[in-house]
Amino acid sequence: MYYPEELIEEVRVKNDIVDVISGYVRLQKKGSSHFGLCPFHNEKSPSFSVSRGKQMYYCFGCGAGGNVITFLMEYENYSFIEAVKVLADRAGINLPEMEYSKEAKEKADLRTTLLEINKTAAQYFYVQLKSEQGKIAYTYLKNRELTEDMIKVFGLGYSNKYSNDLFQYLRNKGYSEELIRQAGLINTDEKNGVYDKFWNRVMFPIMDVNNRVVGFGGRVMGDGKPKYLNSPETVVFDKSRNLYGLNRARTSRKPYFLLCEGYMDVISLHQAGFTNAIASLGTSLTTGHSSLIKRYVQEVYLTYDSDEAGTKAALRAVPILKESGISAKVIRMDPYKDPDEFIKNLGADEFEKRISNARNGFLFSLEVLSRDYDMNSPEGKTTFFHETARRLIGFEDELERNNYIEAVAKEYKVSEDSLKKLVTKTAVSEGMAKPAVRPKTASGREKPKEDAILVSQKILLTWMIEEIKVFSIIQKYITPEDFTVKMYKTVAKLLYEQYAAGKLNPAKILNHFTEEEEHREAASLFHTKIKELSTREEQEQALKETIFRVKSNSIDNRMMHLEPADIIGLQRLMDEKRILDDIKNLHISIE
Ligand SMILES: [Zn+2]
Repeated sequence: MYYPEELIEEVRVKNDIVDVISGYVRLQKKGSSHFGLCPFHNEKSPSFSVSRGKQMYYCFGCGAGGNVITFLMEYENYSFIEAVKVLADRAGINLPEMEYSKEAKEKADLRTTLLEINKTAAQYFYVQLKSEQGKIAYTYLKNRELTEDMIKVFGLGYSNKYSNDLFQYLRNKGYSEELIRQAGLINTDEKNGVYDKFWNRVMFPIMDVNNRVVGFGGRVMGDGKPKYLNSPETVVFDKSRNLYGLNRARTSRKPYFLLCEGYMDVISLHQAGFTNAIASLGTSLTTGHSSLIKRYVQEVYLTYDSDEAGTKAALRAVPILKESGISAKVIRMDPYKDPDEFIKNLGADEFEKRISNARNGFLFSLEVLSRDYDMNSPEGKTTFFHETARRLIGFEDELERNNYIEAVAKEYKVSEDSLKKLVTKTAVSEGMAKPAVRPKTASGREKPKEDAILVSQKILLTWMIEEIKVFSIIQKYITPEDFTVKMYKTVAKLLYEQYAAGKLNPAKILNHFTEEEEHREAASLFHTKIKELSTREEQEQALKETIFRVKSNSIDNRMMHLEPADIIGLQRLMDEKRILDDIKNLHISIE
């Protein structure tokens, strides 16, 4: 940490969260909390709550949450330290000048250093683009009609033809070969030694939602292969959880995103005023992507290429989005290949029209099909449904297929059941019947059973800070070790320390984390929905059951990981098992 803990806490305490957030969001007092429209996702009725008592905010819609420092990190895209500085300023607190010494640099964690290396590399590429040798790339971008403004906003650059230019540059900046390798910027082989991963390419820095460069995409100049090259996954770059352009799209204030295939599509859409365009990064859409999207919007317009591959990708994306609760529509780009080409030829207004006419891709294809049949005659209709059933078999994933059966049945007013039977019958007659499989989620994995126990653990943590009486009961039976996730353990440990010192202060606990993601997760631990229970007896019963569940899960867990020779450990667990009986017979009173 750059500043002493007490100093950060002083800054936090001197900035009342309701006062600070009121400067951004119109809040209304309701009970012990203030409510407003969430600034982090689009909504019509307020689910964004700010509590003066807890000094925390939380959105029950999208899960955004944290203390006053987190809010500035999320809203203004500040880093933790930047947010602390701004708040110190606001409260008139003088922060000591921090010297960024060599030691401090070495100590800073790997993530920070890798982000720093990426940033330095991005700046380097940017300068190259404007230099004499970058002319080839600059001309390429100009030929694609990109404005100076877009080049700057997206931080586009050029990696030149010398094969270890960037490597030398970063070495001169004092970064070790090992770190540069971990940033994914170099390769090594026997013949060439160490060389830059990217050379002779237009460079697209990939930024996270906080505008930090986490990786790169590069498009080769000339005919080299591959045409597009991406950074490998690194400590800071998880491809299935990053979307190109999201850093800008999330502040577009539009209720939907345009999801496209490539970097250039995103940039040309932004240039045309569609600042809500994003792209998945050279991979097909994952559930990680869709839950990231869900934080900001409920609706996605797929703006994939109009070729077969694009259509297929769109059809694949629909159920994944649907699983996250996002409704998806497909924008047709024909007769053009992609949004970039479309806008260059027909302009933004025409594209806007395509958005309003967007349709589900499969339903669109059926609509076209239906024109070949006389849908008013029973015979024509029947033939149409036979053909439709044949096409529906094309969806191999059962969930996906059922989603489409449901939609088609609704659209063409037939019973879902009979359409389903027709599909099965057609599959059998075409010899394509598959053995029945257990229903799975679209991502192909079953929902982990663990979820329920994690919720129980979260409920305990939330309950503990809500009612001090409950805390005193819980701490008799539950220790921080009973929480199975590292973050839960840490948070519980800090809470117990605060409790022992006489004052619970959950907002302070967030100061222990410097990443927005961690703040969000920690804040959610204090805002788990506890079922409204009317009578005290019901509450007591629920509390008892939750304690029992968490404790017995913890014992089972440790039992499973016990070394066979660990007699003492076993004895301890047996003793703890006895506590379970105590809990069962416990009479809890939260009077
Ligand atoms: Zn929200």
